[in-house]
Amino acid sequence: MLKPYISHIIFQTISEVVEETGQQAFVIGGFVRDIFLERPSKDIDIVTLGSGIDFARKVAAKLKVKKVSVFKNFGTAMLVYKEWEVEFVGARKESYQRDSRKPIVENGTLEDDQNRRDFTINAMAIDLSKTNFGTLVDPFNGMQAIQDKKIVTPLTPDITFSDDPLRMLRAIRFATQLRFKIDKKTLASLKKQSSRIKIVSQERVVDELNKIIMTEKPSIGFKLLFDTNLLIHIFPEMVKLAGVDKVGSRAHKDNFLHTLEVLDNISKNTDKLWLRWAAILHDIGKPRTKRYNEKVGWTFHSHEVVGSNMVPKIFNKMRLPQNEKMKYVRKLVFLHLRPIILASDIVTDSAVRRLLFEAGDDIEDLMLLAEADITSKNEYKVKKFLNNFKIVRQKLIEIEEKDHVRNWQPPINGEEIIHIFNLTPSKVVGELKDAVKEAILDGEIENNKQEAYLFLVNLAKQKGLSVVNSLLD
Ligand code: ATP
Repeated sequence: MLKPYISHIIFQTISEVVEETGQQAFVIGGFVRDIFLERPSKDIDIVTLGSGIDFARKVAAKLKVKKVSVFKNFGTAMLVYKEWEVEFVGARKESYQRDSRKPIVENGTLEDDQNRRDFTINAMAIDLSKTNFGTLVDPFNGMQAIQDKKIVTPLTPDITFSDDPLRMLRAIRFATQLRFKIDKKTLASLKKQSSRIKIVSQERVVDELNKIIMTEKPSIGFKLLFDTNLLIHIFPEMVKLAGVDKVGSRAHKDNFLHTLEVLDNISKNTDKLWLRWAAILHDIGKPRTKRYNEKVGWTFHSHEVVGSNMVPKIFNKMRLPQNEKMKYVRKLVFLHLRPIILASDIVTDSAVRRLLFEAGDDIEDLMLLAEADITSKNEYKVKKFLNNFKIVRQKLIEIEEKDHVRNWQPPINGEEIIHIFNLTPSKVVGELKDAVKEAILDGEIENNKQEAYLFLVNLAKQKGLSVVNSLLD
């Protein structure tokens, strides 16, 4: 029954090597799981009884693949054949010590190897020997778990999670990705051991977190992370968003749940990881800026400023990149309210021009974020905002066509200002440059050299400066 799924020449070749060497080999893990989930995959994991590296070399020679990447420390080898990636590992038995993630590894049987897998759905193997080609080896009944849509550990969950606490995050990742339920006992153990996630390296944690974020409905994962107390260990700032304060009958919304709604909303419209991160962090400054005022109720003044300042620190702590990706998230957090303010007011040209100027090429992403941020239950309000967003979008197009302020470069730069008035580099140069920018953004003058020059000369005169080198012929 499984033969059609392993008819590719790669499997045939592996089978021949098994025949010739007597070294048994099996397809295992994600590839097997994905056959039953009808998610065809090109990533193959092969487990073999003996050295994975030697075995890989023999397969590569037969397939006429020149390069085999060997990872001696892990005892694994990898080859690429067309669009397929095949990883080989010797079957192993692992034993762990309580405070370390580094297991003691010994050679083992297929059963030993299946025992150390994370979940029953990931522990199924298919025999590649000639005589048993295509036979499923499923000692933990992973098939049943697939049918029941369950994430269950092969061993007692306490052992599986304690051996490698990253598996707790993986459980939540698979539950979110596949829309499976985590088995009751597995979930209880996960809750009990959540604090052990601390011994896992930040890189591995963030890798899984990003996978959760990239699923179709990431809120499922975040709710599980929250309920199991994992989130408090891996992302405490986000936990602080949760909860509702009340003074009398006045309550603010639960910003954790709101954030998850925004994240789900944006995930319908983008596959960009960093835009999804901007959704996660857009209100992260709210807990620190929360105030209560008798007149207006709950306020979160400047939460976008406080929040954007938190972005580099959070990225640093999480080992997320510190480069332009972080800057992009920071900028979107900083600007996230701007389209909404625009859309709740009369949309003036100059406000749109300023928004374009500040957002630059990220304007479309910012608009998506702002739209995703509308989570009101009041349908009338939602309609009104979305309609105003349409007007803002239309204006954005018109103004960009006319004024070209997106990716704006000053029509007269600092060097030129110094030259025109024969100045030394000083504060006044910056002031003049800013004044030209403001005049353009306000629509007082057009965005071109001629108008900027006339405006500049006039302004400089008021400051007692006169033209030494004219820009005009
Ligand atoms: P995906 O490709 O969607 O990430 P996958 O199951 O192939 O899914 P990998 O991380 O590539 O995920 O792992 C391959 C296989 O290795 C898994 O199916 C599982 O059997 C095993 N595995 C990976 N990580 C662990 C772990 N931390 N503990 C135990 N087994 C693991």
